[in-house]
Amino acid sequence: MNELQSAGHTIHFESGLNQLLPFLVEGKYSQVFIFTDRNTSELCLPVLQEMLGDYSTFDLIETDPGEENKNIDFCIGIWKTLLDFNADRKALMINLGGGVITDMGGFVASTYKRGIDFINIPTTLLSQVDASVGGKTGIDIDNVKNMVGTFTLPQAVFIESRFLESLPERELLSGFAEIIKHGLIADAEYYQKIKESSYLDPSSELVHRSVVIKNKVVLEDPLEKGLRKILNFGHTIGHAVESYALENDKVPLTHGEAIAIGMICEAWLSVKNSSLSNDELSDISNYIKSIYPKYHIKPDSYDQLKELMNSDKKNEHGQIMFSLLNSIGDCKYNFRVSDQDIKESMNYYNSLS
Ligand code: NAD
Repeated sequence: MNELQSAGHTIHFESGLNQLLPFLVEGKYSQVFIFTDRNTSELCLPVLQEMLGDYSTFDLIETDPGEENKNIDFCIGIWKTLLDFNADRKALMINLGGGVITDMGGFVASTYKRGIDFINIPTTLLSQVDASVGGKTGIDIDNVKNMVGTFTLPQAVFIESRFLESLPERELLSGFAEIIKHGLIADAEYYQKIKESSYLDPSSELVHRSVVIKNKVVLEDPLEKGLRKILNFGHTIGHAVESYALENDKVPLTHGEAIAIGMICEAWLSVKNSSLSNDELSDISNYIKSIYPKYHIKPDSYDQLKELMNSDKKNEHGQIMFSLLNSIGDCKYNFRVSDQDIKESMNYYNSLS
């Protein structure tokens, strides 16, 4: 359970980071940069430093926290900082943070001087079970999610439960959405186990099992030509709602809160357009709504949401493509769905008490 082999790199679990030190001290890298946001600088960097012991030969690059900062302006700032430090192609970037940091740090590293090595140390539940694994890097454009990015693999990923100790409840709940998704798309028995667990205390076993599911899918289809699209279950509508909330709501939804909404809507679409049963839909809706706060999708936002879905990266020939459930634990991709069904799925979500 301590190591999982991914494409060309290893995902280390609870290694106490003692596998990290050899990367840093073997002389392979000319400079080491640790990339954080303000929160992970304060809460996670001391934990990392404690784990690294005497090793302190790194420079810190810090950014503002939050999805609203996952954009090109911040990337330009980071590229310039790397230039100011005379970082060459042998530099290493360690991304210490949540999905915003691993996505944006990976993107900056994969493009700086046509690419330098990076390591992901995910510090949120969401980034541990999802964002840091699979090689997708990216940034948002005008709050539209992940519009520019690369597929670039890290040199290694280190998953440590210690980092989760400082994570606020809302962020634990956010990450739990991706764990639920893994059960729904790939493993009905795991989904039952998830329902018996608490998002407030996600076990290392749960984190490991989710990473195994994600890793298996991305190893089969690293560039999302086919099977990998199942990982987008809940994300076609979820990303649109997330982008809309980022633009319009005083307190934006977290990624996982938006995906939870998307999973209910897309489970409804799975009944209408695939073979999910009504009983399974009720099970999914009741479970998700029992742990996630209720959100109201404004009916007058439908056109804007549809517009946002038109930018979804799974689309083909201008047609929005969904990944839908045949049953709990079995997901298929490339479903075309009518506009009317998309609207009705959101009405269904709004109708849940
Ligand atoms: P995030 O990075 O914004 O982290 C959430 C908040 O938690 C931030 O305020 C952060 O500063 C804080 N934080 C991080 N670690 C902490 C800790 N240990 N203690 C206290 N606070 C901490 O967001 P996220 O939810 O981790 O990730 C969401 C992002 O991940 C989205 O941009 C999404 O698009 C992306 N994502 C990418 C993939 C992928 O495959 N690349 C998959 C899923 C999601």
